[in-house]
Amino acid sequence: GRPHVVVIGGGAGGASVARGLALASAGAIEVTLVEANPRYTTCFFSNLYLGGLRPIESLQFSYDGLTAAGVTVIHDLATGIDRGARTVALAGGAVLGYDRLVLAPGIDFVEGAVPGWTLDQADVMPHAYKAGPQTDLLRRMVEAMPEGGLFVMVAPPNPYRCPPAPYERACMIAHLLTQTNPTAKIMILDPKDRYSKQTLFENGWLKHYGGMIEWVNPEFGGADVEVRPETMEVLIEGEAQPVDVCNVIPAQKAGRIAEIAGVTDDSGWAPIRPDSLRSAIDPMVWVLGDAAQAAEMPKSAVAAHSQAGVVVASLLGELTGASVPPPLFVNTCWSALAPGDSIKLGGAYAPGYDRITQTGSFISRPDETEDERRLTYEEAFAWYDTLTAEIFG
Ligand code: FAD
Repeated sequence: GRPHVVVIGGGAGGASVARGLALASAGAIEVTLVEANPRYTTCFFSNLYLGGLRPIESLQFSYDGLTAAGVTVIHDLATGIDRGARTVALAGGAVLGYDRLVLAPGIDFVEGAVPGWTLDQADVMPHAYKAGPQTDLLRRMVEAMPEGGLFVMVAPPNPYRCPPAPYERACMIAHLLTQTNPTAKIMILDPKDRYSKQTLFENGWLKHYGGMIEWVNPEFGGADVEVRPETMEVLIEGEAQPVDVCNVIPAQKAGRIAEIAGVTDDSGWAPIRPDSLRSAIDPMVWVLGDAAQAAEMPKSAVAAHSQAGVVVASLLGELTGASVPPPLFVNTCWSALAPGDSIKLGGAYAPGYDRITQTGSFISRPDETEDERRLTYEEAFAWYDTLTAEIFG
């Protein structure tokens, strides 16, 4: 029969591979996608929902486009992988055999990364770092803040998904608060000395939100923060600070199924071959998106989609003998500072000897005109529509 490729995870990376492979192989390869949720809510632009600039429904996609492309879509949770027998076990009891396996499960959180916080407390101190109900909950909590209240974000250490996202989130929450609760404060507790697009963000905070946003670096108590969800307190250098909303974004690792499959290493991420994203541990497995150790490539939807193109070409070569073009990786991350004012950062990447390396980059200039910033803002909206159409059809 036809070779069977099973893809686990229907997000930016996995849905792109499943649909791309079904279309490009024109039926020569049987493609099955296993995805836990019936609908996907994009993390990308979820900060704009927090800022009131996008309705949540506009961030949600069904898998009908994948089915139409010939992908067999199974909504279930993959719970076990036997790499010897080449099978995937699903929570619902089914067992799928595969010839090649693609893992794109995104992220999970490192247990114990923020003392006092476990996933069970996410309904009190949300992460909102997997989009959907968590994003909605965070928005409602911000709207319910008392006048002049305090919003605290516990920012993650590197590497994590979407390096500029926590700082864009601060902008969008500030945008919401300036309209409804202008004396409220936002405090970002950061274990990092510096972060993505820092100067551009700091300029934007000053320009649009006055002194509303305070960034606390590790030297001043940003690191080693503890939380107490029961009393809504954050411990900064051992001192209890009462908070009204606390957004805990813990340290991250590859989605659990990658660990269960045994294709991750001590870093918590899956090592890959830089020319194909084939697992460095098992040649029958490919790993892409946030779960992969893509070295100098950031963890983003654009990066995951770009990697998907390389994975599809690699699988076509492997299973149909098609010639494999040299891999090309790109990334761009747009961030909204305020309505009509966005910045961007991007790069091109190529496989190096043992890792993916950056070959070029660009970043918005601090002295850009308002017109240039507005163009970047509009470009981001066009990008969102194009990318989601490419992923979901
Ligand atoms: P995901 O998109 O998370 O998909 C993983 C999928 O796998 C999920 O649907 C999940 O349900 C499924 N899954 C996991 N385990 C299993 C299992 N065992 N069985 C079945 N299904 C499973 N990126 C950008 O490019 N631009 C942006 O502006 C941007 N903004 C962001 C803002 C925020 C607030 C956040 C949090 C992220 C942002 N990102 C952005 C990053 C982007 O969302 C991720 O990098 C991207 O989604 C990674 O794709 P992925 O396929 O690796 O994982």
